[in-house]
Amino acid sequence: MSEMPEEYRSILVITAHPDDMEFGCGGSVAKWCAEGRDVFLVISTNGDKGSSDRSMTSERLAKIRAAEQAEACKVLGIKEFRILGYPDGFLTDNPQFQGDIVRAIRTYRPDVVVCQDPVRRLSLFAQHRDHRVAGSVALDSVFPAARDHLYFPEQVAEGLEPHKTAEAWVMGAEFPDVYVDITDHIDTKIAALRCHVSQVGQGEGLAERVREGAANLGETPGFAYAEAFKRLKYRR
Ligand SMILES: [Zn+2]
Repeated sequence: MSEMPEEYRSILVITAHPDDMEFGCGGSVAKWCAEGRDVFLVISTNGDKGSSDRSMTSERLAKIRAAEQAEACKVLGIKEFRILGYPDGFLTDNPQFQGDIVRAIRTYRPDVVVCQDPVRRLSLFAQHRDHRVAGSVALDSVFPAARDHLYFPEQVAEGLEPHKTAEAWVMGAEFPDVYVDITDHIDTKIAALRCHVSQVGQGEGLAERVREGAANLGETPGFAYAEAFKRLKYRR
């Protein structure tokens, strides 16, 4: 049984960095793809800061991360992905970035947008500002900007019609209200994460960490492994 309603055939995941989707909802994405739904991914930044290797350059890292992402998308079954290419670490809520996200929503016309949590939680010590900005702009774009024709009218003039998204699913939210059973897809999630070699190295301890996190989330719904989301519904 799927937690994602049967009628939702198209899902757009919007994140800050390459690998965010895999960590946050890779098992769910693998499941939705296996169910025959179209899953698209838009990544806001090029991830060009994520390295502790002092001989690494931002330019080289961005290329490596794009290649790793392409591999991970193949593993999961993602239909199409694009990297907007904003510099890692400085993602900013401004009309240009929002215009790019609105364009993606009007292009892919998803039933559901999956995004990151826009709220800084002081109970978590490590949080990336890009995640919050990407989450905030994604939600602002779902409602009202992608929906209303007077936002970014130049896109509408190009033929990109306004789009009403039915729901947003926020990953990593403090009070989740939907749990996806990823028990049959945890191995695919781990395999997709392993594609991000620049981030996870040879993946020592990765599988254990991922299984432990997913098992903790699975306690509430009674699944061996789960991912969790806060679900927002919009009037269509
Ligand atoms: Zn990230």
